[in-house]
Amino acid sequence: MKPVITLVGRPNVGKSTLFNRLTRSRDALVADLPGLTRDRHYGEGRAGSRPYLVVDTGGFEPVAKEGILYEMARQTRQAVEESDVIIFLVDGRLGLAPQDAAIASYLRKTGRPVFLVVNKAEGMRYGAVAAEFYELGLGDPRAISSAHGDGVTELIEEALEKAYAGRPEEDEDAAARGTKIAIVGRPNVGKSTLVNTLLGEERVIAFDMPGTTRDSIYIDFERKGRPYTLIDTAGIRKRGKVFEAIEKFSVIKTLQAVSDANVVILLLDARQDISEQDAHIAGFIVEQGRALVVGVNKWDGLDEHVRERAKADLARKLRFLGFAKNFFVSATEKTGIGPLMRAVDEAYAAAMAKLPTPKLTRALIEAVEHQQPRRKGPVRPKLRYAHQGGQNPPIIIVHGNALDAITDSYKRYLEGRFRETFGLVGTPLRIEFRSGD
Ligand code: GDP
Ligand code: GDP
Repeated sequence: MKPVITLVGRPNVGKSTLFNRLTRSRDALVADLPGLTRDRHYGEGRAGSRPYLVVDTGGFEPVAKEGILYEMARQTRQAVEESDVIIFLVDGRLGLAPQDAAIASYLRKTGRPVFLVVNKAEGMRYGAVAAEFYELGLGDPRAISSAHGDGVTELIEEALEKAYAGRPEEDEDAAARGTKIAIVGRPNVGKSTLVNTLLGEERVIAFDMPGTTRDSIYIDFERKGRPYTLIDTAGIRKRGKVFEAIEKFSVIKTLQAVSDANVVILLLDARQDISEQDAHIAGFIVEQGRALVVGVNKWDGLDEHVRERAKADLARKLRFLGFAKNFFVSATEKTGIGPLMRAVDEAYAAAMAKLPTPKLTRALIEAVEHQQPRRKGPVRPKLRYAHQGGQNPPIIIVHGNALDAITDSYKRYLEGRFRETFGLVGTPLRIEFRSGD
């Protein structure tokens, strides 16, 4: 699981500026999907070979309440407590604020590793900018400029040193026997019920795997002869005959599970409107490039009018998930589960597909013959060949000239052609352009 770095600090210290800098490299990869809800509060970054997740708790704060600690919403505290490293930002231009002291004392109590970081320090002498922050009792302040980038690389490298310390060497698939599935969704949509439905009748191969702690987050099971590994998002534990969630909803665990999974089942509740939280989770799944199947749960016993409303809500609010299939299921009545799991298999196959260069290039050339990219001024982009640059999600790298001039709509056209040629359903597909020569 990727470590989580959480940004904390009072408003305006520069959390979102730092967040953007830490996740920027990823932005270029994100498909420009109409209707996609970009959440600017959690994202992924990478330093060398080390990936990490970043959470900006600024987004969790309620708007108008009194007292910063009171304001620190439950979600913020939970995020802090579940993170590997906290970056606590203060403002080097405004200096020490009373709220900083309150946050510092809270952070000290949590016992989490904290990096005290003085932001906006560009052009200032370290001694002058750092001095007053020693009294926060969080060790030597580090000085950075989020806006200009000074000191950010060093900060993140140190933070990752801490976050990765004591972790077993990344052996991503060591614990997984089959397709890694994460079932995510808001509280009460029916995640643990679905887990029980999936696991109940099936053989749980290694819930307590040898060599892993009791906290193991991987649950292996088999269904119709196929191996799967369920990534636990809610602290699902076996209690007697059933599995139940022992923890409340956790943003961090959801993010980690999504980013660790091959296929995500996004579970919605047919009896509730799709919320912003649903859309944010969906957005994160797309950003992470995970294969996805949408399950609309609690479909049992609903009258036609409620069903139509649920379908319309889905089409409107999650239309950017056009690549994923929707299933209307009931975890309690065990209906729709077979098709849902077949779609998981199909999405996995698409996500892991091998796309040979000759076939990709042929598909590209045929697409261009059928519809040329538009000129931009005097230049017409020239697309020459394509090869696969990655899996889960599949990345297709298109080579040619003047590819900067390719429009989003032409990119979507190409995506459609590639999907059709290779039968890619249930996975995001990324297309990158490389102009050469
Ligand atoms: P947040 O509320 O903590 O997320 O803060 P923002 O990232 O929105 O930044 C608040 C303001 O501080 C914005 O006007 C930023 O442009 C500015 N800011 C952020 N980082 C720096 C920095 O390193 N130097 C300077 N001078 N300004 C910065
Ligand atoms: P979680 O918080 O997402 O893990 O949700 P739970 O699995 O704990 O389910 C929350 C509530 O919804 C429980 O009372 C379940 O019995 C109920 N529930 C779950 N699935 C279904 C379903 O398919 N149909 C109906 N009618 N209720 C369901």
